[in-house]
Amino acid sequence: MLIEDHPAIGTPVHCGECISDIACDNLELELPEHVISMRVHGIRVVFPDGTEKCLTEEGYVLEKHLFERWIAEEAVEAGASMHLGHKLSSMERLEEDGRFAGWLCDGKGDEFPIRAKVVIDASGVAAVCSKIVRQSNDEPLNEMGKVVAGMQYELLEVPTDGYLDFYIWPKYAEKGYLWMIPKCDGRANVGLVTEDRPRAKKALDEFIDITHFKELEQVRPPWKAKGSPAFGGTIPISGPFENTHHDGLMLVGDAAGFTSPLFEGGSHLALKSAVYAADTAAAAIEEGDLSAERLSEYSRLWKDEFPPYDKILRGKNALFELTDDEMSVMARCFPDEMADMGISGKALVGLRLLVRRPGLYFKRIVPAMLAFGYSRARYYGW
Ligand SMILES: Cc1cc2nc3c(=O)[nH]c(=O)nc-3n(C[C@H](O)[C@H](O)[C@H](O)COP(=O)(O)OP(=O)(O)OC[C@H]3O[C@@H](n4cnc5c(N)ncnc54)[C@H](O)[C@@H]3O)c2cc1C
Repeated sequence: MLIEDHPAIGTPVHCGECISDIACDNLELELPEHVISMRVHGIRVVFPDGTEKCLTEEGYVLEKHLFERWIAEEAVEAGASMHLGHKLSSMERLEEDGRFAGWLCDGKGDEFPIRAKVVIDASGVAAVCSKIVRQSNDEPLNEMGKVVAGMQYELLEVPTDGYLDFYIWPKYAEKGYLWMIPKCDGRANVGLVTEDRPRAKKALDEFIDITHFKELEQVRPPWKAKGSPAFGGTIPISGPFENTHHDGLMLVGDAAGFTSPLFEGGSHLALKSAVYAADTAAAAIEEGDLSAERLSEYSRLWKDEFPPYDKILRGKNALFELTDDEMSVMARCFPDEMADMGISGKALVGLRLLVRRPGLYFKRIVPAMLAFGYSRARYYGW
């Protein structure tokens, strides 16, 4: 059973909408034409002084709401029932002969109460099960971590050569970045993620005002009939939650805190974790063992597969400890193509830094450099 609290799947969109070829291969997704907005060649990082460096790897910009509807339809075709306008708000633990036997789920919607052997929490940043399920010590399953704000506009007639432009300009996006993500027919998402949540909209407007985006028309995206043209959401940034499984319960995607630290991509991680959770749930139900111990297989699977969050976060923090000028000097030492730097490429960057700015060489540049490497698709960056 799939439940979704909104009246439709996929809207409002809260995503820049890009996904890499590597993610599609890894997830065995053959995208139908109607969910694809544009083919893209990778990421171009624009540093504070305007220096541009590429992380080339092919991918797509999606019409994300159509993509999500397609995924849901695939699930229905495979036998799931889908219930829109159903909001989960409580879960009561059921036991038989002293053994865990499932959850009695309740909330708003005609199908409630729903009895479930296994619940997979894919509620995104709301992380509903972490709040309503209690551990044996009566503490909530997980503490809520930090979130950053993401916001964007759709612009028209945006020039593009098929790269996603990611601007690391801390003046506008604190410990975040701004983007231009091109779509079909000259459309593009222009937005930002920032730790300065109250200033997100103002900072995005200021950025647009000082760039070539200023002259371009802002429109509501096709799925949004009324209201402000801005759309977005929040993204968890504290890393994977402590407890991603429990008796009869697994957390996936944003609800488990799975996002990539530097560029905050989450779709690849969400979909892969969902595959692991679904496989684990099917096997556990088949075996008649719904215990936390049985479902711990899920946490082991994602831990073996996903890149080390803390290490990448250290790299991101090292990057944002640099001044704009230092960041730009570092960027000028990078090769034009950062995707395949290898050991010799990194050594060359180190050498250039030693020559150009020896003081900078000793300022934790190596972790900052690694953060870019870990933002690639193969490390679930997008
Ligand atoms: C502005 C912005 C730009 C982004 N850009 C990108 C990008 O370009 N590429 C990328 O990979 N990632 C991007 N991300 C991150 C990405 O959107 C998320 O990581 C991804 O959507 C997580 O998927 P999910 O299925 O875990 O959660 P979601 O997509 O958030 O889905 C959760 C669903 O659960 C429903 N729900 C919540 N609570 C309940 C409840 N109690 N009962 C029933 N249903 C409930 C919600 O309505 C929602 O439909 C971006 C995020 C933001 C905010």
